Amino acid sequence: MSWHRNVPFLDLVTPHLQLEEELVAAFRDCLHHAHFVGGKVLAQFEREFAAYCGAAHCVGVGSGTDAVRFALMAAGIAPGDAVITVPNTFIATTEAISQAGALPLFVEIEERTCNLDPGRLRDFVERQCRFDASAPRLVHFSSGRPVTAIVPVHLYGQTADMDPILALAEEYGLRVIEDSCQAHGAEYYSARKGSWLRAGSMGNAAAFSFYPGKNLGACGEAGAVTTHDERLALQVRKLRDHGQGHKYYHDLEGYNGRLDTIQAAILLTKLTHLDTWNQQRRRTAENYSRLLQGCAELILPWQPAWAKHVFHLYAVRVPQRQQVQADLAAAGIGTGIHYPVPLHRQRAYQRLGYAAADFPITERVAAEILSLPMYPQLSLDDQEYVAARLSQAVASRAPRTEAVPVSLS
Ligand SMILES: *Cc1c(COP(=O)(O)O)cnc(C)c1O
Repeated sequence: MSWHRNVPFLDLVTPHLQLEEELVAAFRDCLHHAHFVGGKVLAQFEREFAAYCGAAHCVGVGSGTDAVRFALMAAGIAPGDAVITVPNTFIATTEAISQAGALPLFVEIEERTCNLDPGRLRDFVERQCRFDASAPRLVHFSSGRPVTAIVPVHLYGQTADMDPILALAEEYGLRVIEDSCQAHGAEYYSARKGSWLRAGSMGNAAAFSFYPGKNLGACGEAGAVTTHDERLALQVRKLRDHGQGHKYYHDLEGYNGRLDTIQAAILLTKLTHLDTWNQQRRRTAENYSRLLQGCAELILPWQPAWAKHVFHLYAVRVPQRQQVQADLAAAGIGTGIHYPVPLHRQRAYQRLGYAAADFPITERVAAEILSLPMYPQLSLDDQEYVAARLSQAVASRAPRTEAVPVSLS
């Protein structure tokens, strides 16, 4: 193969050039009304994003990290509690849990989706915790802490299997906060409800990030909480704004965690393109899966019948990743690893006392995942180039030494 291209992992320039006039007009409008904090544009974005997600309320905040933290606090998670999540997520998920004063507890993922495994979640709740019916509350044996919430992460743009997670949460009185920071517009077929539901409409609340590279990205930092619960939304409004119900009347100590109006205006403009972009991402993923299906050493993303994946990331599993990634870099192809070191092995979480062996699936996945270039404007030609180079890189390496433990067909 002699031709050479440059295919970046992410292209943030092209979409902004395509929308330049619209975005400049939105910015100019903000300069003219000068409501840089709060105001009508923010309220309009909140209304439209809530409607997009199928939630009753949306509260704009400063980042996705703020969104997870405020959602937990507003849902009543208190200092001293414990909150269940997965070890294979961005650290913001667990930072927010710690910042709410709670202890993160990890439960292993399901190998094919890389999301929280509902069966292992039930095992954890029933074997490593005890239900104190008199309180009533769930208590984690080894830490002695009350377990009050679950944070399923909709990783890579595909929702966790929410029906069994929500059923378990109801059984044990746990709150559910969806980390939807990678899943704007993703859908889940709920057999319980008999309908497709969007990420952000299923738990007690959900957190979104509008970091520039997300499926819906601001031109800076931004995030939002969505919820059906009016009181929870009101509490997030206070938390993001120094605990104020009214100006200079502070019901509690809050934060400076607002979504600024220029970002809201930009997001409002971009929101009208989100469905198109997500469709382009889905088509891009289909192309990859078709182009790569003959490469037996690769494990491709799996979409269950109950999921509509929006492919924030297209992550494959490859043996000998380091060499394959280097070959791709030499061929001008940018890739990423989401995430190379699972949270239970991060230095920041040594205090939690986990061992590497505690989450063997997470470890196996972390050692092999490789995120390929993925963005709505990625051309088929570029994808063909990526697929050809990737197949070649994999073919020139020794195959997996260890068999893949479960059938992934
Ligand atoms: C991006 C992201 C966050 C944090 O969002 P920020 O806006 O960067 O604070 C949280 N969780 C997950 C899974 C993310 O991908």
